[in-house]
Amino acid sequence: MRLSVVVVGGGITGLAAAHRVTELSRERGIEVDLKVIEARDRVGGTIATEHADGFVIEAGPDSFLSEKPWALALCRRLGLESQLLRTDDRFRKVFVWYRGRLHPLPDGFQLLAPTRLLPFATSSLFSWPGKLRMAMDVLLPRGGGDDESLGAFVRRRLGREALERVAQPLVAGIYTADPDELSLAATMPRFLETERRHRSLILGLRRALRTTPAPGTSGARFSLFVTLADGMGALVRTLAERLPDSSVVLRQRVASLERAPGRWRVTTADGARFDAERVVLAVESHGAARLLRYVDPALATLLGEIEYAGAVTVSLGYRRGDVPHPLDGFGFVVPRTEGKSILAGTFSSVKYPGRAPDGHVLLRCFLGGALDARVLGEDDGQLLSRARAELREVLGITAAPVLDRIARWPASMPQYRVGHIARVETLERRALTLPGLHLAGGAYRGVGIADCVRSAEAAAEAALIT
Ligand SMILES: Cc1cc2nc3c(=O)[nH]c(=O)nc-3n(C[C@H](O)[C@H](O)[C@H](O)COP(=O)(O)OP(=O)(O)OC[C@H]3O[C@@H](n4cnc5c(N)ncnc54)[C@H](O)[C@@H]3O)c2cc1C
Repeated sequence: MRLSVVVVGGGITGLAAAHRVTELSRERGIEVDLKVIEARDRVGGTIATEHADGFVIEAGPDSFLSEKPWALALCRRLGLESQLLRTDDRFRKVFVWYRGRLHPLPDGFQLLAPTRLLPFATSSLFSWPGKLRMAMDVLLPRGGGDDESLGAFVRRRLGREALERVAQPLVAGIYTADPDELSLAATMPRFLETERRHRSLILGLRRALRTTPAPGTSGARFSLFVTLADGMGALVRTLAERLPDSSVVLRQRVASLERAPGRWRVTTADGARFDAERVVLAVESHGAARLLRYVDPALATLLGEIEYAGAVTVSLGYRRGDVPHPLDGFGFVVPRTEGKSILAGTFSSVKYPGRAPDGHVLLRCFLGGALDARVLGEDDGQLLSRARAELREVLGITAAPVLDRIARWPASMPQYRVGHIARVETLERRALTLPGLHLAGGAYRGVGIADCVRSAEAAAEAALIT
């Protein structure tokens, strides 16, 4: 049999969906006419790697979570396993910029809560009243309901200091979100579940560690993450290479979707038309909302309600001798209370080998997010001087960088607000009433690359059911 499939969007989600379609079509002996339609002049979406002067610069994601198996499994199927790089665990430490200096996040801190007494008790990051308030978690009763904001949860269990000095900046570095808006159930269900089962977060996490010891010490963003020797771009490049010839169509922005009996008509802004029995919408949910506004206004409204924040990355290459700080960690996060523009800084060439030429280092600053939209509007000069001024303050770097790169990602990071899961369940039910249409991407059930691959492959499986 023969089936026509159009994938809209050539980011990791669209490419992984198209790749799974080709795998399944081979396995099941289905002939597929496949097109991946991408608005930009390259594939990859937010994944973009540049090689310049011996530096490997990531404009967007620099790694993916290996604990969630889908991206790792895909790399293995693509034959990329030998290129996978783990973080350099000698430097597995994350700092918090607090009152003008970098304090190590205590060993054993599991994203929100401490699990080891001594490093926590001796930490310079928290005051004694703050430490005592966190320790009260072991006595406090259960609380909350099905979902609450991460901010409310941390304040309730561990107190304001834990929220302001750890949870808020770590969450800003991962979700670029306001913790008082962020759904705990949609982003960190493990903590909700720990409270449900063990009452105390600290005791529950300690018990869990006894059964499955955590490989890392502090900060989920900085542990368990892997990348590729050639950069994340190698993943999307390889995926695109494995698709049938001329299936990727670049520089075509899909402008409308129409339903006809048994098929979908996909029309681009240039007037190119693609008819297909199956369509996978692998674009941001605000883009999917626009494309579906005449097909199903109620679904479009639900999709449009998922908010997005923007982000900027500023990558700076320095001579090692020009950086006075020992760079003995993977990077730092910055609490909002410090009033800085940088949300997080990564010591990219320490975290992964091969990111900078000999005698040099590569640093990357992450700015913007839900709490600071104004930076997206600034020009390159302003962004660069902002980043350099703050790095001077915290790392003592006064020299000019030998390389700088700025990448802007407007409306690129979905914000999982309280109630997100219920909204996604409603919109998924609604989407099921549109046969042949499949939604995939980071807007729904996980924002990272691993979740995007899972969602892409599930959409491909559903699309190939005949
Ligand atoms: C700065 C930054 C850093 C990040 N760091 C990490 C990280 O380290 N690890 C991690 O796991 N995740 C990270 N993420 C999240 C990760 O990038 C995303 O989860 C993932 O890349 C999203 O992939 P996607 O294909 O769903 O969407 P996108 O990458 O946004 O791709 C969507 C594609 O659709 C195209 N498109 C949109 N509308 C249309 C249309 N109408 N017609 C045709 N094409 C269209 C776009 O041009 C784009 O190429 C980061 C995100 C950002 C912005």
